Amino acid sequence: MFTGPVPQTHVQTTDRTFSDLGLSAEIVASLEDLGFEHPTPIQSEVITPALEGRDVIGLAETGSGKTAAFGLPMAERLRHGKGVRGLILCPTREIALQSKAFLDVLGRRHELDTACLIGGVAMGPQIDALNNRPDVIVATPGRLYDHVGRGNVRLDRVEQLVLDEGDHMLDMGFLPQILRILELLPDKRQTMLFSATMPPPIERLAQRFMRDPLRVDILPSHKTAEGIEHCLYLVEPSDMRGCLMSLVEERGGSTLIFLRRKVDAEWAFRQLEKEKHLVARIHSDRSQQQRVQALEGLRSGKHRILLATNIAARGIDIPIIEHIINFGVPDTVEEYVHRAGRTARGDAEGVVSTIASWQEKEALRMIERAIGQSLPRCTARGVEPYVERRTTIRGRKLRRRRML
Ligand code: AMP
Repeated sequence: MFTGPVPQTHVQTTDRTFSDLGLSAEIVASLEDLGFEHPTPIQSEVITPALEGRDVIGLAETGSGKTAAFGLPMAERLRHGKGVRGLILCPTREIALQSKAFLDVLGRRHELDTACLIGGVAMGPQIDALNNRPDVIVATPGRLYDHVGRGNVRLDRVEQLVLDEGDHMLDMGFLPQILRILELLPDKRQTMLFSATMPPPIERLAQRFMRDPLRVDILPSHKTAEGIEHCLYLVEPSDMRGCLMSLVEERGGSTLIFLRRKVDAEWAFRQLEKEKHLVARIHSDRSQQQRVQALEGLRSGKHRILLATNIAARGIDIPIIEHIINFGVPDTVEEYVHRAGRTARGDAEGVVSTIASWQEKEALRMIERAIGQSLPRCTARGVEPYVERRTTIRGRKLRRRRML
């Protein structure tokens, strides 16, 4: 079986077939090369209307199979040698590379050529790729806009546009570039938007730039998978780092640690390396090559632990992880659920640990309300759990209560 650089992870599929959805025998054969036998729910809902040219809003998360949901209709409908007809905008370099890898496999039989334009790497090879007259461009908005400004590429013949992870592109501040790029595209085109949430700016963008879109919602309700053990470590802010080290020592197995700040990721990396752990990190100061190596290291088992800042980690397709650690409460409920979805896939069991300080109690309550369970309070070896102190208006201590 050919897998190439397309990541292979366990996904839930339907009992339909790809031929049922209207895909050609040629494309179905490419899918067999990848070992894809049945479509996932998002693929099953999106592919047929997309093949008919309809605009689609897909409410789906990373890991749902959405790359194929837009990649298959694109590979089916676009032919080689007619200029840039397909455009995919993504929030991160990693997602862009994954989409390119996927299109390279699907379009191999009819020589579909995809150029990848991402920031943080040299312009030269990208200009060469553009000079080869690609059929599809997959890009992060900033770098694409740079190329457009320099006259390296024209987008006036694009027939199919994909906005992948719309809400994450918004979080990353790409909206102004996206709007400018949209102004350059022909009005007559198909637009597919994928997003895990629809914040108002993305909703407005859809209303302004899409034609009667079909809305497909396959988001899980805010219930996280069975088989996941949740643990909350509520500690004093000054104990958060100690708690992290204690958890890493306590539990073996592959571990993915999400951190908000680069400085914490760098600190944890140095500390864990000093203690001879097999560890890698990804954040915005790491080069593209270093990020790819870190991810590959985790996939191959060369590294047991991967440290990732929230933004660098978005959308990355990580193989099954035994232990997820949130160093700090995730910003949104979706993020908590999404991260938890990277463990306990299929029948596997996994642990999601969250290390939080009392300052984050409000955010924790929101998560607990949304997932419909309170996160079990746990204690890490050698770290005192947080003790709540209630005071009167005059500042007199009323009582001390353990948050357990
Ligand atoms: P995505 O959400 O597009 O990043 O896909 C998540 C993972 O599911 C990737 O590892 C894909 O290779 C895999 N995948 C997507 N569609 C299928 C399918 N129909 N059958 C098996 N694996 C799939």
